[in-house]
Amino acid sequence: MTVKENNVKQPVSDRIGMMKQTQPDLYVMRLKALAGDLSSLQLAAIAEVAERYGQGVVHLSVRQGVEIHHVHKDDLEEARLALGEAGVEMGACGPRVRGIVACPGSESCKWGVIDTKQLARELDERHFKRETPSKFKIAVTGCAHNCTKANENDIGIRGAIEPRWQSEACTDCGHCLSFCPVGVIERRVDEQHEAGFRYELDEARCINCSVCTSLCPTGSWVAGKQGYTVLIGGTMGKIPRFASELKRFAETEAEALALVESAIAFYCEHGRKKERFGHMIDRIGLDEVKEEILEAALQRVEKE
Ligand code: SF4
Ligand code: SF4
Ligand code: SF4
Repeated sequence: MTVKENNVKQPVSDRIGMMKQTQPDLYVMRLKALAGDLSSLQLAAIAEVAERYGQGVVHLSVRQGVEIHHVHKDDLEEARLALGEAGVEMGACGPRVRGIVACPGSESCKWGVIDTKQLARELDERHFKRETPSKFKIAVTGCAHNCTKANENDIGIRGAIEPRWQSEACTDCGHCLSFCPVGVIERRVDEQHEAGFRYELDEARCINCSVCTSLCPTGSWVAGKQGYTVLIGGTMGKIPRFASELKRFAETEAEALALVESAIAFYCEHGRKKERFGHMIDRIGLDEVKEEILEAALQRVEKE
């Protein structure tokens, strides 16, 4: 007996990720591609299901999502099981945490400061499909180049460094004065210093990108510490809002995860139905929201 014939009602959790199309009885199947990754075997299985149950087309969404369109409602369960056999899970839709987006990060990108894939896996395990007042998007980006547009997400996590200048190898070429994107590096005459000069930065205005450490030809700018900038409340859609900085430099992954947990918990407690996280922040006030989330995260870290 096929699944279709036995007429067993699917649990709601199995139907998440299946969305009605404008055409009667046809559905979109949204699939999970954590951090934009699928194995070649999974891709082959997706192609086969698209061929068999859809129209032979796989749609790639802007958030690393993979979708099969035009699946008849009676075929949804068979298609889901066929995908499941290849380890392809359904994605998320509706008022819950959506698939975690991440760039390649330090795994393969020369600019990458953090292990974005590892962090995405942790976030996925803790939050994927968790119910929230409205849709909730999380993106991880490996450095300030911000390829995953962290600021457009309810939570964005960006790899960050605190640069330090080392005089030994510096040839005083001056290139870093021009390639720092926010112009916060300065050269100072320093008679006390062996070289007679030093390069320094305005820490308050440094955006913790990895441009100086990556581009200095002699490696004289080094990453003192590496960490995570955590942003909250970004959204596009009808009322766009750029994310606000929750914490500029979280020093450990555990701290970043505690900030995310506390931010989602706060949103679940205070957000109104269908109200996006960023709009809730504007309603309550950024300073108050930040204070409460930071305090709750600190307590979480201390407990662990
Ligand atoms: S955000 Fe940075 S680490 Fe990630 S892909 Fe872009 S340049 Fe590479
Ligand atoms: S780019 Fe590097 S070598 Fe050149 S001045 Fe700056 S720190 Fe020194
Ligand atoms: S980390 Fe980026 S912003 Fe900060 S000093 Fe280096 S290049 Fe400039």
